[in-house]
Amino acid sequence: MNEQTSLPRLAIGSLGGTVSMQASTLGCGVRPTLGCDAQLAQVPQLRELADLEVATLGLLPSASMGFAALLDVLAWARAEVERGAQAVILTQGTDSLEETAYFLHLLWPFDAPLVMTGAMRAANQPGNDGPANLLAAAQVALAQDSRGRGVLVVMNDQVHCAARVRKTASLAMAAFRSGCGPLGDVVEGVVVYRQAPARRKVLPLPHCTEHRVALLEVCLDADTALLQAVATLGYEGLVIAGFGAGHVSGGWSEVLGQLVPALPVIVATRTGSGPTASASYGFAGAEIDLQAKGVQMAGQLCPRKCRILLWLLIGTGRQQQLHSWLPC
Ligand code: GLU
Repeated sequence: MNEQTSLPRLAIGSLGGTVSMQASTLGCGVRPTLGCDAQLAQVPQLRELADLEVATLGLLPSASMGFAALLDVLAWARAEVERGAQAVILTQGTDSLEETAYFLHLLWPFDAPLVMTGAMRAANQPGNDGPANLLAAAQVALAQDSRGRGVLVVMNDQVHCAARVRKTASLAMAAFRSGCGPLGDVVEGVVVYRQAPARRKVLPLPHCTEHRVALLEVCLDADTALLQAVATLGYEGLVIAGFGAGHVSGGWSEVLGQLVPALPVIVATRTGSGPTASASYGFAGAEIDLQAKGVQMAGQLCPRKCRILLWLLIGTGRQQQLHSWLPC
């Protein structure tokens, strides 16, 4: 609490994305130009809710963000909590939000909420959703029930868990979904949770950041040239977005068997929902065959989040513990 205003302290950092975009020249499309102050100017109610600490941390489209920049953002957010912020909000592009949120979720050591949001419509578009999402994010961030849940993604008045949320629509306002539904909703400014906080494990900061993890998607009649190149190109981990319940062709299975002694391999599902199987199918390239070769099945984790997890596990020397980090 700030002694003079007795309002809780809330740190808000902006990274770019559509929520920061507007058109400066007619016909040239929108680009990130609005810093954090300009975004907050559209939501005057925020200053009635909290004593704000505001920082423009970047002005990037979210496809151009990276792990090194995220570690800097994490350091900023941690320092804000250590200086007394009750919660932290980050605004960014929605395109990579499902990945950045999970990255930060795995490293966020506090009960204080870290809430991430963005917008599907740019600031100059009619009906732009940035201000409403920002206000909802603040209401979630300041709610007592949000504590201990790690990183939360708030979009379209829904609260999602960073470990499960996915962007499932390219342009629709309702663009985010979680496999088992949202954790809760924001109703008339009040956060109503429908799921209890899940037990979560937190990783220490990675001590190495130079390694790379590849992500390849299977498709019909795919050759194995790219797959075979993975180890020779120096990748230290591999994630496959597999068919159905986590399947690959017989040819891909053979190559994966050759790669496994050299690097950890995870097979996830490319379907967009549901877990991988563990004991149903017995053909070459199915889960029983893959596991016998030392491949890890992803369980509930989507391919993109598997890549984030594997990168952080390798960076902290914990790749041997991969199995215990994959939700069944
Ligand atoms: N639709 C994306 C967004 O919501 C495009 C730009 C980006 O992800 O940065 O922000």
